[in-house]
Amino acid sequence: MPAVEYVTFRILRLFRKLPVNILGIGSLTVIFADYFKDFEKLNAVKGIFGEKTDEVLHHLKVELSWVGGYMYVDGSDGHLVISKNYLSNGNKTDIYLDLIHELCHVKQFLDGRELFDPRYDYVGRPTEIEAYRYTVQESRRIGLSEERICLYLKTEWMSQDDLKKLAKSLNVSYC
Ligand SMILES: [Zn+2]
Repeated sequence: MPAVEYVTFRILRLFRKLPVNILGIGSLTVIFADYFKDFEKLNAVKGIFGEKTDEVLHHLKVELSWVGGYMYVDGSDGHLVISKNYLSNGNKTDIYLDLIHELCHVKQFLDGRELFDPRYDYVGRPTEIEAYRYTVQESRRIGLSEERICLYLKTEWMSQDDLKKLAKSLNVSYC
């Protein structure tokens, strides 16, 4: 199997165990480890939390909600909020990378760091750069091309200048 297909296959397998019925009305709160099975076994996740991986994932609350957009860490208590629409319909590789990115923010929150420091804009904020660096490292490890990584970084609310600035900080070419 070609490397990229193998990556996709493995990522799809990670999501195969997701409970399917999340599309009900209202939001639903679950525990990360109960919902995203086997993530505690991933090197990318263990690389974030180390020996605390199991403990953190068994306590981390995930709110599945009809919010727009993708996912984010709530700065008030450090729980993860995920758009049900994105989780159901988004590209699974993107969702996987977003989860890794957001788990970096969970770690930062647990370390007592300010996630949304207003002195910086989004693409210049140290907590973002750090989370993106780790995510880009993981995306290279799983075999994504630089073009695909750039596509991942690009979001509709980021200007072309901001994308270039972010890509430069992360040493991602082809943006
Ligand atoms: Zn972020």
